[in-house]
Amino acid sequence: MTYKRILLKLSGEALMGDRQYGIDPARLAEYAKEIKKIVDKGVEVAIVIGGGNIFRGVAGASNGIDRVQADYMGMLATIINGLALQSALEDTGIKTRLLTAIKMEQVAEPFIKRRAVRHLEKGRVVIFGGGTGNPYFTTDTAAVLRAIEINANAILKGTRVDGIYTSDPEKFKDAIKFESITYKDVMSKGLKVMDMTAFTLSQENDLPIVVFDMNTKGNLEKLVSGEKIGTKVDK
Ligand code: UDP
Repeated sequence: MTYKRILLKLSGEALMGDRQYGIDPARLAEYAKEIKKIVDKGVEVAIVIGGGNIFRGVAGASNGIDRVQADYMGMLATIINGLALQSALEDTGIKTRLLTAIKMEQVAEPFIKRRAVRHLEKGRVVIFGGGTGNPYFTTDTAAVLRAIEINANAILKGTRVDGIYTSDPEKFKDAIKFESITYKDVMSKGLKVMDMTAFTLSQENDLPIVVFDMNTKGNLEKLVSGEKIGTKVDK
């Protein structure tokens, strides 16, 4: 295995499948299966999941909700997704723990770094809910932060696009995919990989980012086994 311990970042939107809102149980089950494959190979897996399929702070704020309140609503949405993912993963027979950045003890364990690492060492999949626990941040930033804290080898950002392109491949036919790219080139070319806070945190801590298509079956497994899947951002 190329990667021994990974942090998988899934956007909330990915859970919608073909829906406009919420969670598609079929998509959730597919993701759980893909994740199980790498757990079975002995990879230690931590997951940060977004909340955009349920609530986004900026959208709430533009509809008149106080921004900080709206961000807390967004953070709670990530915990809802975390619970759903936990259930789907346990249906496949994997052991999991949900750790939240906002205390919710009847529902999940509070996030404690040492505890998270211990769970991973025991082969449990750890889901981090509630983002960073702070408004004005994103789950991408939470993902990078947690990845650094737990010493993950890389952050694997599962999207519906199979890597980083010169321009948006869903809009421009002539977009060219990068096999790999440096942090510097991402910056100088103005490419969007993550929001700036998340990206800078990753660069400053030499945490490689791999952007890959999570919707193609087998991709996650190939990626952790060392096959060239997606685009890797590194120094
Ligand atoms: N959020 C936040 N702090 C965090 C992480 C998330 O305030 O550390 C809120 C923010 O309002 C965001 C929402 O939670 O819009 C959902 O997260 P995000 O947009 O990152 O989810 P995704 O787009 O990946 O589904």
